[in-house]
Amino acid sequence: MIIMKKDATQAEIANVVSEASKYGVRCDVSRGEVLTIIGLVGDERRVPFARLEVMPGVKEVRMIETPYKLISREYNEVFRGKDESRVIKVKGVEIGGIEPVYIAGPCAIESRAQLMRIAEEVKCAGAHILRGGIFKPRSSVHSFQGLGAQGADEAREALSWLKEAGECFEMPVLTEARGESQMDLIAEYVDIVQIGARNMYEQDLLGYAGRTGKPVLFKRNFGASVEEFLSSSEYVAAEGNRDIILCERGVLPVGKGKSFTRYTLDLAAVPAIKKETYLPVIVDPSHATGRRDLIKAMSAAAIAAGAGGLAIEVHYSPAESWVDAQQAITPSELADIIDTCRKIHKITTGG
Ligand code: PEP
Ligand code: MN
Repeated sequence: MIIMKKDATQAEIANVVSEASKYGVRCDVSRGEVLTIIGLVGDERRVPFARLEVMPGVKEVRMIETPYKLISREYNEVFRGKDESRVIKVKGVEIGGIEPVYIAGPCAIESRAQLMRIAEEVKCAGAHILRGGIFKPRSSVHSFQGLGAQGADEAREALSWLKEAGECFEMPVLTEARGESQMDLIAEYVDIVQIGARNMYEQDLLGYAGRTGKPVLFKRNFGASVEEFLSSSEYVAAEGNRDIILCERGVLPVGKGKSFTRYTLDLAAVPAIKKETYLPVIVDPSHATGRRDLIKAMSAAAIAAGAGGLAIEVHYSPAESWVDAQQAITPSELADIIDTCRKIHKITTGG
């Protein structure tokens, strides 16, 4: 990280960028009201820091000793002059703000009528953001892959319903893309793009998502450590996109016997991640447990642990959900969960 002096000129900044770029790194320039910081992205071994440090306009070179620098609290603190968390604003909804955000909707969009009804009911239940899968990452190729897999026209049609539902019920919308062409397509319709747990290691896709300029809901892989998760997020941040919402959704269970939950919700990861990064952290209790009867308890625990929000799968007729029926809850159960979580948030934050 190269910290420029307060009065560094544009020419001095450009000179440092051009000098550093000679050594095979990219420069991520953050221009603030007071400070400009040049973050180096790439293999820094050949960079002659001692020479850069004495260039005109340079105040200081600081090494950040983590594999995730751009999203680290340290980076933000130097840049902003104070340690603060990022608030991502999407169509009037604040993610990472004072109040937790509630993201809800069906696992998969099944029809226009299904989506519109769920959208209306989750809005009434208190949800802020609408989710709905169109390109589903399924374990079996024989399972329903989402309407998007049925053809280009079907994909656009489902995306247009999602956009319409969002406009109609005044909620930003999000869906997942599994590949780059899907990413281009969904970015035309949605407010937030999702990268699912299975694609957490797909670095080209992460960079691609970063370049859409849309906020990215980024889910932790079920086999990834927190450090790997944060390192992967850096691929999005390295494209100049810091609107990243980190989502804990459970890791693989251990041992030979029955685990009773689909994954193991790693709740300690929430406060641990918040110490490392200024990005908002949310929890998905639906995929983490795979059991509708556990979602309220895990939602409450996640909010108590400091999660900035929840992503929950909802269907008016849970058992009839085409995908993930066992974990879908009803809109009235969602209303009860949001109500409980609001109370817990108030207690834990002393508000
Ligand atoms: C999803 O959110 O629709 C999903 C498939 O979740 P995950 O990637 O966490 O399995
Ligand atoms: Mn699902």
